[in-house]
Amino acid sequence: MTTGALFAELAAVGLDVHSDRPLAPLTTYGVGGNGACVVKVSSVDHVVAVSEVLHRHPGVDTLVMGRGSNLLIADIGFNGLVIVMAPSSTENAVSVDGDIVEAGGAMLMPVLARRSVGAGRGGLEWCVGIPGTVGGAVRMNAGGHGADMASSVVDATVLSLRSGIIARVPAEQLDFYFRGSALSNNHVVLSVRMKTAAQEAATGTTEINAVVGWRREHQPGGRNAGSVFVNPGSGDESAGALIDSAGLRGFTIGAVTVSEKHANFIQAGEGSTAADIAAVMSHVQSTVEDVHGIRLYSEVCLVGFSADLMTRFSHPSHASAPHVAAKNELHRLLGDHA
Ligand SMILES: Cc1cc2nc3c(=O)[nH]c(=O)nc-3n(C[C@H](O)[C@H](O)[C@H](O)COP(=O)(O)OP(=O)(O)OC[C@H]3O[C@@H](n4cnc5c(N)ncnc54)[C@H](O)[C@@H]3O)c2cc1C
Repeated sequence: MTTGALFAELAAVGLDVHSDRPLAPLTTYGVGGNGACVVKVSSVDHVVAVSEVLHRHPGVDTLVMGRGSNLLIADIGFNGLVIVMAPSSTENAVSVDGDIVEAGGAMLMPVLARRSVGAGRGGLEWCVGIPGTVGGAVRMNAGGHGADMASSVVDATVLSLRSGIIARVPAEQLDFYFRGSALSNNHVVLSVRMKTAAQEAATGTTEINAVVGWRREHQPGGRNAGSVFVNPGSGDESAGALIDSAGLRGFTIGAVTVSEKHANFIQAGEGSTAADIAAVMSHVQSTVEDVHGIRLYSEVCLVGFSADLMTRFSHPSHASAPHVAAKNELHRLLGDHA
């Protein structure tokens, strides 16, 4: 698929677009190849303009990127259109209406946590620990510290890059599940509305400091994408504990290492490749299965890898009938099949 004509049309409408652009610097792993066509958007108008142009290029694959903190992009890159969500100056504010806090899709989660607390609203303090955007957090149903997006989201305003339709999608139709939702690569979360409770700002600040302190103590710094594997079902040990007791802490291929500090984190050192990260993931998955008889699946989104590898790491429940039905329903709502 060539994206030359698409590039020219996006440039012609005044968008900030580049061809054959490295994606590694846009991710927290810092690995991966180039995007064939990469457009930076910092307003709803920009996203609408992208969808209008894309309408004439139905065969081009799309990838929406927030902070790239949950993405592993293959060394061959992504042969399609990458839409990079960049916060605008107005994205730094939340709006509050009664119990509802609303934030733009490109706002960073730590900013959401701090702005909400500053506005005297409680319930989103945990978001300070997630180094991604609000839109990425909705798509992934990000969570931690006993909460997740599903527990607060009332609805999200979503644009379909294919149909250009913008709809306010209620939480039920987003079909949140553990680290996922019904949203697909054609959907852009423009904004989200979340339930909160009245709270003294000082109480929220204490909670934020506790979350930040806990993260510093328990999680490694450096280049990673947070937890790599989804915790298996209730009753089983956590993915990190299973990896640890399989003797994999410190396991290394090239410059890629299973973290010594948290065994469910994979650290990418200088000179790492996406292939080495995928190789470490494969080794961890097969060793844990040999030792414990439990198959681990990826929490990190893989982009541009072979279908076999993607299937190997994709949780089978994501293809279950209820989740597929919810995805189809969302596609219908957003006119994706029109
Ligand atoms: C140190 C570290 C700690 C972490 N801890 C946690 C944790 O505790 N809990 C947790 O859940 N995650 C955690 N993560 C993972 C990650 O931060 C979250 O998944 C985050 O929500 C991803 O947001 P992002 O903007 O970086 O999305 P990206 O990584 O850019 O994208 C992730 C997915 O979201 C989609 N997407 C991004 N933006 C949008 C948008 N506006 N509209 C539609 N789709 C979009 C992408 O297409 C992709 O499918 C951690 C990561 C790191 C590096």
